[in-house]
Amino acid sequence: MKTNLITGGAGFIGSHLCDYLIEKGQRVIAVDNLISGNRKNIEHLLKNKNFCFIEHDVCKPLKIEKKIDFIYNLASPASPADFEDYAIEIMMANSLGTKNVLDLAVEKKATILEASTSEVYGDPLKHPQAENYFGNVNCFGPRACYDESKRFSEALVYSYQKKFKLNAKIVRLFNTYGSRMRKDDGRVIPNFIIQSLNNKPLTIYGKGQQTRSLCYVSDIVDGLYRLINSKYNKPLNLGNPNEITMLELAKKIKSITKSKSDIEFKKMPMDDPLRRNPNIKLAKKVLGWKPKISLDKGLKQTIGWFSKNY
Ligand code: UDP
Repeated sequence: MKTNLITGGAGFIGSHLCDYLIEKGQRVIAVDNLISGNRKNIEHLLKNKNFCFIEHDVCKPLKIEKKIDFIYNLASPASPADFEDYAIEIMMANSLGTKNVLDLAVEKKATILEASTSEVYGDPLKHPQAENYFGNVNCFGPRACYDESKRFSEALVYSYQKKFKLNAKIVRLFNTYGSRMRKDDGRVIPNFIIQSLNNKPLTIYGKGQQTRSLCYVSDIVDGLYRLINSKYNKPLNLGNPNEITMLELAKKIKSITKSKSDIEFKKMPMDDPLRRNPNIKLAKKVLGWKPKISLDKGLKQTIGWFSKNY
């Protein structure tokens, strides 16, 4: 029976990954300091004998007695609102925290998957973004705490692979959405859904012509599992290649929720990427992976969850 350690296990993607692995009959140890994670996300698993939760900050070394086969390092706040509130915590989680988790992987001879981000491409000058693009990142701005610390974490993984022959994977996650996103995390999906459900104006930053490519969380979780079980050891994109402008997204969510909300245009945040779209040829080739859930289906499920939970 395989044992998985998931840092950030009480977070949005982490908790869905816990569910997925428990469902597969594997053991899961979830670690989270609950800065942006929420105990509620994993409460239903606490009675399961194959699951345990440890409240712990990865910036402190992890001491675990049990054998561990796989580590998913997902511990970091990740929304632009968090970049304002938790800039230093984010930088430490992705540097010192990643080092501690990599050291644990070396000690346990575990396979590790490091969660990186499409933010390593910054405000990209190439479309779509393939893994061999080096990016266009501002190292001295509001998104730098996340972008640069994730870039650092990739370099650290590279160094551990070389020095310790560590079996390590790196995933660059593009925008992901679904149930258990925080209602106040400032991201576009929770904002537009909560605003629509309350018939409040939908806040579009800039003219809404910036694009994102939104992937439903179950597709991402499936990709993470495939990647950690693959032989591929270089950075790999996971995301949905369907690109949409924020104005189109606002109209879509308004229409699904049959909302009477107006649309309100607000100031565009500094360094907000204008276009983002993953090239997923590599994931298709090495993992046989592609997203299955359409935006309409995923949004309906997510809206259903938000209307029940908030
Ligand atoms: N955005 C928006 N209105 C909102 C929240 C976000 O127009 O209420 C825009 C934001 O400017 C960005 C896009 O939606 O261009 C995605 O933002 P999000 O915070 O979800 O994620 P990001 O990809 O920027 O990290």
